[in-house]
Amino acid sequence: MQQLEPLIARCRDLVEDLDLANVKAWKAAHPRGIAIGYLPIYAPREIVHAAGGLPVGVVGAGEELEIVRGDACFQSYICHLPRSVIELALTGRLDVLEGMIFPSTCDVIRNLSGIWKLSFPGKWTHYLDLPQNFEPEMGGVFYRRILHEMYAELCAMTGLAPDTECLRASVRLFNENRRLVGDLYAARAAEPWKFGAKDSYLVLRAGLVLPVEEHTTVLREYIQLCKARDVRPLDNARIALRGAFCEQPPLALIQTLERAGCYVVEDDFLPMLRWPSADVSEQGDPLDALVTSWLATPCEAASRFVKDGSEKGCTLVDSTREAKAEGVIFATPSFCDPALLDRPMLQAALQRSGIAFTSFKYAENTGQMQPIREQAGTFADSIKLWGEA
Ligand code: SF4
Repeated sequence: MQQLEPLIARCRDLVEDLDLANVKAWKAAHPRGIAIGYLPIYAPREIVHAAGGLPVGVVGAGEELEIVRGDACFQSYICHLPRSVIELALTGRLDVLEGMIFPSTCDVIRNLSGIWKLSFPGKWTHYLDLPQNFEPEMGGVFYRRILHEMYAELCAMTGLAPDTECLRASVRLFNENRRLVGDLYAARAAEPWKFGAKDSYLVLRAGLVLPVEEHTTVLREYIQLCKARDVRPLDNARIALRGAFCEQPPLALIQTLERAGCYVVEDDFLPMLRWPSADVSEQGDPLDALVTSWLATPCEAASRFVKDGSEKGCTLVDSTREAKAEGVIFATPSFCDPALLDRPMLQAALQRSGIAFTSFKYAENTGQMQPIREQAGTFADSIKLWGEA
């Protein structure tokens, strides 16, 4: 088993490596394999894996990359993520990917998929229209056809024949990985002083580029090593973070929250690693199982239709209580319409439940953390002093 610091350092290297050396190494070791990128917030990674591919999460470039060409493709009043994805691609950093999946998260990603198709006509590009109808005979039939086609197209690229057993084995691997991700969240909520928010995030995010089998091992080791740590708890405020499900905040922002006296005990970073929230069935037809799990999963998100508007916010209230968070911080990418349009409904649900909240915006390359530190610190202090902000 690795020691904690080298393990976290390795994850950080993976997260900060915009040239995807790890993906290149995987391809060198798997000459018939393909690397397929996917945008936030959800893609069925099992399909790529079963076809002999490496699913690679692409969530932007963070703080490190100067955006030059990316800005030329988009107007100024949208979020930062599509610019940095285009910048990564136009500077050759995504050449290692044979294809890209663009889920129907929002209009920005839809438009990004169009720009991608025009810019890289030779690459396999799939716009993943996730159903917003959750009836098996309607949305289910539609989604199964999409998954079936995607699996066939990916298999054609690798030369493998679509195979039920292969797909079931992939489902099993990703189920195991998601269980470990759930264990990490539960362990961090129980003893947040042993699991730093930034370190946990790095370990989770490494899962976007590591093969699933390897990431599962990393998660298992990280949880064991953290649990065994001898660390004294501080009188910090326990907070849930919401709004960062797509464009990711800079690492410095997560660290700033910790330094401001917050234990992040729940968040919505990287939903692709947590969805579906329950195991995909390992019995019967695996495509049907993936469809059923997507239709049934109670994941509430800005990009997922909720039939009755009054239900918005129930999941946030439940997950906040389950993690024993004392307040919610809405940390939202600038110009992220889905998150910002959802927020009034979520705030109303928190108000009805007597849960304190505050909010601010960020961009993945946000540099100035002092105002965020002051706001988060004041929020944490007010929770500790008066029980609500
Ligand atoms: S950050 Fe928000 S607006 Fe931007 S691509 Fe993601 S969901 Fe869409």
